[in-house]
Amino acid sequence: MEAHRVLVLNSGSSSVKYQLLDMRDRSRLASGLVERIGEETSRLVHTPLAGGGAEPRERTGRIADHAAALEAAAEELAADGLGLDSPELAAIGHRVVHGGLRFTAPTVITDEVLTEIERLVPVAPLHNPANITGIRTAQALRPELPQVAVFDTAFHTTMPEAAARYAIDVETADAHRIRRYGFHGTSHAYVSRKTAELLGRAPEEVNVIVLHLGNGASASAVAGGRCVETSMGLTPLEGLVMGTRSGDVDPAVTFHLKRVAGMSTDDIDVLLNKKSGLVGLCGDNDMREIRRRVDAGDERASLAFDVYVHRLKKYIGAYTAVLGRVDAVVFTAGVGENAAPVREAAIAGLEELGMAVDAGLNARRSGEPRLISPDYARVAVAVVPTDEELEIADQTFALVGRSGPVGGPGAGQAGPVPAQGDN
Ligand code: AMP
Repeated sequence: MEAHRVLVLNSGSSSVKYQLLDMRDRSRLASGLVERIGEETSRLVHTPLAGGGAEPRERTGRIADHAAALEAAAEELAADGLGLDSPELAAIGHRVVHGGLRFTAPTVITDEVLTEIERLVPVAPLHNPANITGIRTAQALRPELPQVAVFDTAFHTTMPEAAARYAIDVETADAHRIRRYGFHGTSHAYVSRKTAELLGRAPEEVNVIVLHLGNGASASAVAGGRCVETSMGLTPLEGLVMGTRSGDVDPAVTFHLKRVAGMSTDDIDVLLNKKSGLVGLCGDNDMREIRRRVDAGDERASLAFDVYVHRLKKYIGAYTAVLGRVDAVVFTAGVGENAAPVREAAIAGLEELGMAVDAGLNARRSGEPRLISPDYARVAVAVVPTDEELEIADQTFALVGRSGPVGGPGAGQAGPVPAQGDN
């Protein structure tokens, strides 16, 4: 039987998320999460999903490192008859956060590719090391199996220089690879394509503003299927207000905190990445809790909600100008898919831009892609659930599914190296 399964791995610094998919019908066979790796309180939750599924199984107690985490996941999968030693497993697809400018497409991982991902650690110090650990661990487990890297930055490599460049000294920027890369690209790619499908049109024909609003949040402007602008930059700190990240601030805030408040660079890093955004404004980062507090008359929660929505609206306006013509604005991820008040407030007052939300459609809950704009609106407003794991599995299988082991046709495919130099 031809290999038809793909394991998707998303390795964080102290966690590993995994899903096993059957690519014949793109169904999920199992999913799981290992968290607090290296601590006494590690936890693995494994959910069998094949054949109607079964109750999740849980393991607690110290899981020493990523290798032990993947071993434990492999044991759980084997207990469901889905062992990673099975010839039915075609490949492992890894989410890799930063691919710089070099990686514009999913890429079969070779030693050279891994070295390149390591070279990008200085621009993604929080993310790429964990991704590399995940890759090495999976390689050790199944050395002969194709492993594919799917990069969060890849979808944004089509951004024109005018959007990707910061207006700082060019030599300094180039020496330190400082530019806007963008993140959540797998989600922006999937959701913009799904939105075209929802509109019954080809992706090449439509211009879409994608609002990925999860705990991390980013916007993108997608023209005819290609990203032309996105809100995250050198790191995932820039842009929208997020759960714990500030998004845009005047860069001088950092010098000010250093000079006037005596904070260290690390203190400021923690402040802007972990203690800002919704948490910084009101103490909560869960939009459900914030809405509950707003409804109870809490002023701090109202302020947080208003700052969040104001920033969103600003980006919708800016991206309308960048695109010239907008066919759809689409909401996705935890907040975007579930928080009707955020969608309503972000689109309120944008009738001049052809955008409106129908209250009845907006209130309806569903896991399906759907329109929430009234028929008369010139611009479609939509909710499209994201599915980064499915996109990673699709991209992985497309690359290796039919070409066999590493080195086969289509393997090792990376985008062209840009003329201005390897990034
Ligand atoms: P994600 O990072 O995409 O998993 O999104 C996580 C965030 O989605 C949470 O922090 C919540 O703020 C938000 N969220 C999840 N479910 C809901 C809901 N039913 N209503 C409002 N916000 C939600």
